[in-house]
Amino acid sequence: APVLLWFRRDLRLADHPALTAAVATGRPIVPVYLLDGDDPGGRPLGGAARWWLHESLAALGHALEARGSALILRRGPPGEALVALARETGADTVYWSRTVGVDEAALAARLEDQGVAARRFGGCLLFDPDAVRTQQGRPFQVFTPFWNRVLALDPPPRPEPAPSHIPAPYDWPAGDALEDWALQPTQPDWAGGLRATWAPGEEAANAVLDGFLDGPIDCYAEARDALGVDGTSRLSPYLRFGEVGPRTLWHAVRDRPNDPSAEVFLRELGWREFCHHLLHEHPAMAETPLKESFAAFPWRDDPAGLEAWQTGRTGYPVVDAAMRKLWRTGWMHNRARMIVGSFLVKDLRIDWREGERWFWDTLVDACPANNPCSWQWIAGCGADAAPYFRIFNPVLQGEKFDTTGRYVRRWVPELARLPDRVLHKPWSASAPILREAGVQFGETYPGRIVDHGEARDAALKALATITDRV
Ligand code: FAD
Repeated sequence: APVLLWFRRDLRLADHPALTAAVATGRPIVPVYLLDGDDPGGRPLGGAARWWLHESLAALGHALEARGSALILRRGPPGEALVALARETGADTVYWSRTVGVDEAALAARLEDQGVAARRFGGCLLFDPDAVRTQQGRPFQVFTPFWNRVLALDPPPRPEPAPSHIPAPYDWPAGDALEDWALQPTQPDWAGGLRATWAPGEEAANAVLDGFLDGPIDCYAEARDALGVDGTSRLSPYLRFGEVGPRTLWHAVRDRPNDPSAEVFLRELGWREFCHHLLHEHPAMAETPLKESFAAFPWRDDPAGLEAWQTGRTGYPVVDAAMRKLWRTGWMHNRARMIVGSFLVKDLRIDWREGERWFWDTLVDACPANNPCSWQWIAGCGADAAPYFRIFNPVLQGEKFDTTGRYVRRWVPELARLPDRVLHKPWSASAPILREAGVQFGETYPGRIVDHGEARDAALKALATITDRV
């Protein structure tokens, strides 16, 4: 009898322990992907991630076909869809890579009740969350001790290569056509910027990784915070969809001894791990603040402010550059995510969940763990979070991390002719300078929607209303 191989956030063939184990059985394998099947709370993917998923499934389908196999596409809750497919194909076992945020033990029990055995494997994370615990056996709430603990554990297994052949069943079951899922936008087709920026799929992921290891990783520690340069790996969407596995990255980095930059990079991968382990403990992380006192925070209802933020029209150049880049390319630099996040939850005092939802819809790397975890971090209500009273100054952040102004000039071209010294605070420029640069507030570029100094004071006052409980 064949076995089912359920692909989820692991859309690759190398470094895939569940696939390796399925191939080792010598039995035919039926690979399957279920649309909207397993995100926490059944949350459907956002628009940019759906675009990515389409490309990624197409690439995975081709890679499987090149090995004599195929990818079956189905819809539906896994408890039902996997049992139905098992009945149709005569399969008695389903293999998959464990992930977090969904109750997999309950799912496995449900399948087994219906005569389908569940075999679960690692590979989506470096370590099983249940294996990384404090001395008291509790999950970590603070990153540094968490990471020190991880570094003291036995390293994760080395990645296995992709199998050269994947045995096929005699008859293939029916599946949906990828086009019928309509994951990609048509009217209007807003995905031009995504297509111009990204090539999803495992092969592309390996090329991006090789390019990063060939050079940029050497300067990662210094360049990772600079906006306007490609100082980071840009592997996040590939990791999100599992087109490259974290174990592959771990070993690629650990094979470079005494490379301090590589260690800094690995630590960022550690944050990914930490966010996933937190999601494992708190599956409702996208909705519920981990610090309970924040449930009473007086967020402002400000649809106009939210829209100005979403569309990159706040009047703060670095915020606007970042938000426009997000809309066009589906991605934003980590430093920029922190700046725009702080601006939303502190300068505008809009609920962090609004920002989380916008990112969920617009990021190609929108991740059920990293996104809510990072938003809670920025809002000050997460585990090991930046305290709410640490408020980023968008002018100083711009001047420090976009020193040359390249980032703002690229994404807010209407300010491109301003001299560096006023680029991040155009309201401070004299009338002749503005005229010469062709900048007219309210015409070519919006005036500031809030004054940062006043907004900061108001944010601290709002915090004081819950502080006795923080
Ligand atoms: P690199 O610097 O090259 O890092 C390598 C990998 O490490 C990343 O691909 C990512 O998987 C992981 N990583 C790096 N920084 C972090 C971090 N701070 N937290 C968790 N993992 C990290 N990352 C996502 O993958 N998906 C999200 O939806 C997401 N939402 C975010 C929202 C906010 C408000 C903030 C502040 C950060 C968010 N991040 C998210 C984390 C981080 O910004 C991105 O992972 C990073 O910018 C991706 O670029 P890179 O691949 O070039 O990163």
